[in-house]
Amino acid sequence: MRLRLALLSLICLMGWASAQTASAPLTVIRAGTLIDGKSDVSRRDQVIVIRGNRIESVTDAAKASVPGGATIIDLSQATVLPGLIDSHTHIFLQGEDPAEGGYDANILKYPLAFRAARATVSARRALEQGFTTLRDLETEGAGYGDVGIQQAINGGYIPGPRMIVATRAISTTGGYPLEGYAPELEMPKGVQIVDGPVEARKAAREQLDKGADWIKVYMTHRSWTGKNGELVSQPTLTVEELRAIVDETHGWGKKVACHAYNGIGLQRALDGGCDSIEHGLEITDAQIAQMLKQGTWYCPTLAVYFTDWAPADTAAGQRDRKRASAHEASFRKALQAGVKIVFGTDMGGIPWSEPIAQEFSRMVELGMKPMDAIKSATSRAADMLEMQGEIGVIAPGAYADVVALRGDPLQDIKLLENVAFVMKDGKVFRNDWK
Ligand SMILES: [Zn+2]
Repeated sequence: MRLRLALLSLICLMGWASAQTASAPLTVIRAGTLIDGKSDVSRRDQVIVIRGNRIESVTDAAKASVPGGATIIDLSQATVLPGLIDSHTHIFLQGEDPAEGGYDANILKYPLAFRAARATVSARRALEQGFTTLRDLETEGAGYGDVGIQQAINGGYIPGPRMIVATRAISTTGGYPLEGYAPELEMPKGVQIVDGPVEARKAAREQLDKGADWIKVYMTHRSWTGKNGELVSQPTLTVEELRAIVDETHGWGKKVACHAYNGIGLQRALDGGCDSIEHGLEITDAQIAQMLKQGTWYCPTLAVYFTDWAPADTAAGQRDRKRASAHEASFRKALQAGVKIVFGTDMGGIPWSEPIAQEFSRMVELGMKPMDAIKSATSRAADMLEMQGEIGVIAPGAYADVVALRGDPLQDIKLLENVAFVMKDGKVFRNDWK
């Protein structure tokens, strides 16, 4: 009897579930040109059927039958793409303008609630520009604030992208600001500081326990030009310390992103088994071979290193120029070798008032094909995030994250800076065509 009742309620539940699916709102997008995020070529005149928050079908307009009762969105004069993915942002950072106190002021001057309010605006800015997913790589001293913003977005309280968050990040003593104050002072740090594999593993456990989707580790810190004009970067964690973090994080089914410029620290990042190299300003041929072998991702964040150089006749100015030239060479080599490259900006280091999509232009200037640059911010990033088929693609089964713009970004990549339509999770957030 009890079993029968249970069975009956199960059947009712199933009926209810399918009724829910059937009653989910239907939306049809007419796309003039579709870049689906995965194919090498764009397609003309496509019809995208969306049920609730998922894409149900994508069909040639000539063959498509538009279901009755659907809301029609006419983007027949537009190029339609999947929602974009920025794999390296900091919503809790608001530029590092020295006139406004630089990096330190972010941590020293502002209440956490103020920082959370500004992070809310940053998240909204990203969504307005068509970035429907962010891998946000640490809060710069704002603790687990990113987990809170993620909850607020998922709960529908504030608009924002899908957030993949890294919480506090990890470095070693002498490996992160705030620094340069009187040695007697115990200054707050922009990351969690660890020394030794035991502390390293414990920090990873704490961050994973409190909601980190990825772990972020700083494997290099200061950089300068050496006697022969070469780029030198101070390493931070040892291989043993990083291995403890990677081992722990992989055990949770999650991944580790390593900030690494070059030299010893970059080598330790690879030997320690990190999943993505962030920045990678100077990668040697042997390191590129190791990345290919290990399947390591490369998130170069070019644009941030190509702006705001110190004057040429200063040590900092020489370092800035050396960083950019080394970065260009590394990016070209990695591209040539077929390293898996994802789009990332370091927004936050760049003020959130600037266009996020400026990174596309840098990637294309340095030799990447426009379609590959788009894939680095769509299906390729989805692969890294292990969300292949769910985001970064316009295909049946994917979340309905859709953007549109005027003109052909394959001809002019800068057009990606002017997205005029944004849908996230089946809901229209912005539509300038209305
Ligand atoms: Zn960063």
